[in-house]
Amino acid sequence: MSLIVQKFGGTSVGSIERIEQVADKVASFRADGHDVVVVVSAMAGETNRLIDLAHQIQPRPVPREMDVLVSTGEQVTTALLSMALAKRGQKAKSYNGSQVRILTDSAHTKARIREIDDARLRADLEKGYVLVVAGFQGVDEHGNITTLGRGGSDTTAVALAAALKADECQIYTDVDGVYTTDPRVVDGARRLSQITFEEMLEMASMGSKVLQIRAVEFAGKYHVPLRVLHSFQDGPGTLITVEDSAMETPTIAGIAFNRDEAKLTIEGVPDMPGVAYRILGPVGEANIEVDVIVQNVSHDNTTDFTFTVSRGDLPRAEDVLNAVAKEINAEKVSSDAKIAKVSVVGVGMRSHAGVASQMFRALAEEGINIQMITTSEIKISVIIEEKFLELAVRALHSSFGLDKEPEAENLD
Ligand code: ASP
Ligand code: MG
Repeated sequence: MSLIVQKFGGTSVGSIERIEQVADKVASFRADGHDVVVVVSAMAGETNRLIDLAHQIQPRPVPREMDVLVSTGEQVTTALLSMALAKRGQKAKSYNGSQVRILTDSAHTKARIREIDDARLRADLEKGYVLVVAGFQGVDEHGNITTLGRGGSDTTAVALAAALKADECQIYTDVDGVYTTDPRVVDGARRLSQITFEEMLEMASMGSKVLQIRAVEFAGKYHVPLRVLHSFQDGPGTLITVEDSAMETPTIAGIAFNRDEAKLTIEGVPDMPGVAYRILGPVGEANIEVDVIVQNVSHDNTTDFTFTVSRGDLPRAEDVLNAVAKEINAEKVSSDAKIAKVSVVGVGMRSHAGVASQMFRALAEEGINIQMITTSEIKISVIIEEKFLELAVRALHSSFGLDKEPEAENLD
């Protein structure tokens, strides 16, 4: 007998028909002898509909009331799914966030979970109930309803799995797992049977948006085995877990990419201590996140400084930088919004030399110029011209042999 937390996203519960299908799935897990806690999202489109209603009243509604409003979406799904389970003869009970007592801080619309009281849930599980818990929401210490940010139901599921020490947290969605890269770009993209938390974070933060990043961080921290599966197709999905030393890990797990990048260069910067701070300090104060940073070797005591921001922040970043340039007597500011970032990701590169040179060779063979390079322990990223992005991803995918099924695939 095992305890499974299953999370169904908005499209998986987007209609009564789908909710009935989810109920069938949950019932079959019960029939196999598992205890099941189900976490649900609002029905597809519902959260956006509610946000739009609020915006018809005020462009920036009171955050507390926003949470009261958007948390209702999930509550509707919990009731409907519990009814569908009851119809199938299952004992089921719905819970909203404050009924469980998912205690959060008071940061409305982006609250963080502090503590989960699992007493009521455990008592009901012992009595044989399937528990249907509203995702995305909690309650603060003053009893105010809070929500966890868009996509927050993933985090609810992982947090419940951690609190209940579930055997697995299954995230059901409209894809059948995590892929080596975006299948819309590479035909040969393959579902991974397994990936580590660290790799998943790098893949997710760069465009493979299957899971809320915070949920992956949470799962990694508490070692909750996380599985991404298709809601209505059978298959093993992708298991996200700790690094398994017994298994031969491939050097590279996948190729991630991000088009949402823009590059700024400030040229002819007097090269002296404190200059990086004087440039990037004001950028940070403007709440603009900086990604890749490069400072060149200086000639004649001046240097060039280049960094990337997300494309939407470019106009603001340019304003900030123009002001800084005047202050520090830099020569000029230039920018380029037609760039993209491509990364190879894999924990295996810790123990394999030559990944970077293989990456650069594959790009060179396609005549793709690398503008910037950055590396971490498990990732190498390059900035290239955006028009070469798909070519680069395809070249890297085949260069690292990701189109081929690894041996370890048979293990699940
Ligand atoms: N319903 C919320 C959203 O659309 C939370 C979730 O689905 O995870 O963002
Ligand atoms: Mg989601």
